[in-house]
Amino acid sequence: MRVLLLGGTGEARRLAARLTADGVDVVSSLAGRVRTPRLPAGEVRIGGFGGAGGLAAWLAAERVDAVIDATHPFAATITRNAADAAAAVGVPFVVLRRPGWRPGPGDDWHWADTIAGAADALPHLGRRVFLTVGRADLAPFAPLGLWFLIRSVDPPAAPLPREHVVVLGRGPFQVSGELALLREHRIDVLVTKDSGGDATSAKLAAARALGIPVLLVRRPALPDVPVVATDDAAVRWLAATGSG
Ligand code: NAP
Repeated sequence: MRVLLLGGTGEARRLAARLTADGVDVVSSLAGRVRTPRLPAGEVRIGGFGGAGGLAAWLAAERVDAVIDATHPFAATITRNAADAAAAVGVPFVVLRRPGWRPGPGDDWHWADTIAGAADALPHLGRRVFLTVGRADLAPFAPLGLWFLIRSVDPPAAPLPREHVVVLGRGPFQVSGELALLREHRIDVLVTKDSGGDATSAKLAAARALGIPVLLVRRPALPDVPVVATDDAAVRWLAATGSG
């Protein structure tokens, strides 16, 4: 059976490794945003499909039997396009989505519905910001008269805040390193998407340890499609589609 695995996440790489080891013909798809992506096992294609219509045509031409969307929780456009395309050509479709983060004792968490909403709320929470929302979502923060430590995988482009330092990095991160970063730059507020998962959660533990507030951006809503939360559940779903 041939499976399109929409990726760009750690769980997509894990699932690609598992399915290819099981003899499934997996094509992983990456958007091409990262200069040197970590490549999954099996066949890989890179770049957009040209919207839902382009993806539907691709699924038909490649004779794909099932689509698994293991993209980042904030990659809402590709998930909506994939749901539409799979429905249009009658290919089974599931989203593999890791759970969001949950606050624990000692956390001082604040929520925004959007990146723009986070930028609006930020001046009420601190002056020296650790901004970890990804380089594509920095523009709303550029006009704010705050100091920023910006972390991204590849160097960010303008518009950027007037006062900022960039640190390049790709998870997984450790709590000790995150604590050192927060202390070194005298950070008093952390901004993050509710990405979930272990690879980038150390910053939350570090903020808790230092009593620093965290401003989280809520996930965009998913379309009305089947959703699983683990590799195991995705493998079971694939088997249950009838040809896995
Ligand atoms: P997006 O806004 O949902 O998608 C924008 C466009 O990029 C899509 O319409 C599609 O172009 C193309 N695209 C996105 N993911 C693709 C994939 N896996 N394979 C082929 N084309 C893809 O997505 P995004 O937020 O730019 O994220 C792009 C990729 O980076 C995703 O694979 C995601 O898993 C990863 N990522 C995103 C974030 C984040 O915070 N958004 C964080 C970490 C990793 P066409 O319409 O031309 O098909």
